[in-house]
Amino acid sequence: MNVKSETLARSKNGPALPGREPRESLLGLGAPELEKLMYALGEKPYRGRQIAEWMYGRGVATFAAMTNLPATLRSTLEERFTVGSLRERSRRETPDRRTRKVAYELPDRGVVESVFMSTATRFTFCLSSQHGCAFGCRFCATGRMGRGRHLTASEIVEQAFRLRSELPPGQAEYNIVMMGMGEPLENYDEVIAALTLMSDPAGMAVPAKRITISTVGLAPQIVRLADQGHRFRLAVSLHAADDAQRSKLMPVNRRFPLEQLMRAVRHHVDRTGRRVTFEYILLEELNDTVADAARLVRLVAQLPCKINLIPYNPIGPGKFKRPAPERIERFADYLRPRVPAVTVRYSQGVEIGAACGQLAGEEEPAPG
Ligand code: SAH
Ligand code: SF4
Repeated sequence: MNVKSETLARSKNGPALPGREPRESLLGLGAPELEKLMYALGEKPYRGRQIAEWMYGRGVATFAAMTNLPATLRSTLEERFTVGSLRERSRRETPDRRTRKVAYELPDRGVVESVFMSTATRFTFCLSSQHGCAFGCRFCATGRMGRGRHLTASEIVEQAFRLRSELPPGQAEYNIVMMGMGEPLENYDEVIAALTLMSDPAGMAVPAKRITISTVGLAPQIVRLADQGHRFRLAVSLHAADDAQRSKLMPVNRRFPLEQLMRAVRHHVDRTGRRVTFEYILLEELNDTVADAARLVRLVAQLPCKINLIPYNPIGPGKFKRPAPERIERFADYLRPRVPAVTVRYSQGVEIGAACGQLAGEEEPAPG
């Protein structure tokens, strides 16, 4: 019987390579799908809800530990399915362990990275949505990898599932940001399926307001998100406030120029009632002058928004530089009285290559 559902293991690159794990992962299936699966196996459907509760509610990753299931069912599950399909290949952690970058090997090929970030009180998981990225933003390490494949909903859920198991005991709250490798809104269906399951009370029960989707600016997909009534937070990577400058940094701007993008964002704000975040990387001499700040203020005028300034994180040789602290402060100071909220995000984990824009699967296995 083939239990693959809409949300499970649909690789754009064809089936998994021979010799790999033949069993399918159940992570990523919601309770209703698990109930159907149990029915198809000749079991009572409510067993599906029990499995969902073990996996999503309690973070159990082996069928053997699901002790309210009959032993025969546990062994059938063990033979035919797994809880997850990613293999941890390596990790790098800061000495204080507040930031951890974990490289996961995909079942077919390639490595994606996820980041566990924490302060004393706040825990955030940065997840990948694709292996590589086709958008080629000039400042981004993932962009240099070029197009890869979409991750499945199962693979996206699993990243959060695995990082959650690293939370300190008793810590139940955490945030999810789709700011790892790839463009989430290009992989719309799988990302939304994954986030819907994560936010479902019968799933991982992360409130939608704790989940942020960051996009390079795919205007039609922003409109779709709003029209479908999804309540996740939206972050838009702006990085420049005029078309000529933005097109140079982000080729996608030629497809969806600022006017179209801002119309979509306004629609999202109107429909969801949620404030939008604009991300703005500061690049010395390129977009960090007071004139640039003034253009940015005009662009976002009247929108309930927060501007998140990200001093550029170096990704190797190239023409970009992080501005000096005085220039960063000057830019932020100009904005503060003129827009609703401004933050300067000094990314965690620069020293382990885990900061914004630095994820590029350094741990790729050798081809062949
Ligand atoms: N594709 C999505 C999400 C992944 S990138 C997007 O582009 O929004 C997450 C954030 O990191 C984006 O705002 C991106 O522009 C930013 N980023 C990329 N490279 C960076 C770098 N070298 N320094 C700082 N931020 C970077
Ligand atoms: Fe892709 Fe986002 Fe990097 Fe641009 S910034 S190349 S969209 S991952």
